[in-house]
Amino acid sequence: MRATRRRFDLSAVSELLLGVPTVLSSLLVLALLGKAVTPQALWLPPALWLLSGAVVFLPATDQLLAVVAYRLRKPTRTERAALEPLLEEVCGAAGVDPRRYWLRIQNSKGINAMAVGGHVVGVSTAALQLPPRQLEAVLAHELGHHLAGHTRISLLRWWYELPARAVVGLVVLVGVAIHGVGRAVGTPGARVISTLLIVVLAAAALVVSPWLVLVPVIAPLLAWSSRRAELHADRVAAELGYGPVLLEVLRRWVREGQDDLRARAPVRARMLASHPSCAQRITRLRGR
Ligand SMILES: [Zn+2]
Repeated sequence: MRATRRRFDLSAVSELLLGVPTVLSSLLVLALLGKAVTPQALWLPPALWLLSGAVVFLPATDQLLAVVAYRLRKPTRTERAALEPLLEEVCGAAGVDPRRYWLRIQNSKGINAMAVGGHVVGVSTAALQLPPRQLEAVLAHELGHHLAGHTRISLLRWWYELPARAVVGLVVLVGVAIHGVGRAVGTPGARVISTLLIVVLAAAALVVSPWLVLVPVIAPLLAWSSRRAELHADRVAAELGYGPVLLEVLRRWVREGQDDLRARAPVRARMLASHPSCAQRITRLRGR
């Protein structure tokens, strides 16, 4: 088995680049905040925000995300005894220290696994029932995400996009409120005024968050990047020697109806899907 220490792959780089417009909007929002709060140093809030990205690298962030966003718990002693040797095997094949990764469990009837932040490898209780070698292949796929930095980069992008997203959320809320007031008053004049106010509000939002006009282009590109990341993680698993076993897992998913039959899904859904279909993953793996 060839030791693999892959770092950022192209999908991680493309995800970073696709986040640039929104992150710039966030910095613009914070510069405007700086102008209002600290006019003599309007660079201060954007600079502090950039520094705050370090939070993504804190172990506590991974712990919090695992519990809050993914409802993961610590494994019981039995679960740990079953999983740890498998993770050690996978990490041994990849030439990385298994102590870098924290095993977590999600109570779920669906076979599922996830990489979270920079350290967490989660598996569902249903996935624990897989034959050990298949579970190992699933862990190898998740390790592939960690080695490429996929999950950490996604988290960093999400964090830096928060101010821009908060502004959009606020604008939508205010817009809905204005619309509601216009309808409640009910006179034609009130409706015209509320519509005008919403147009002005939308224009102001575009000035503060110019990335909004790019959303129709960025959203499918981000989904494409995410699908590439999945195929990359499969490739890493295959390079670590788990290709044939991963194929078994994917075929099992198809048999059990866990594939979402993307081929029959509408074009828009396929363009915005964050995961490739099992059929596509199988084709790629067999191509190797
Ligand atoms: Zn994955």
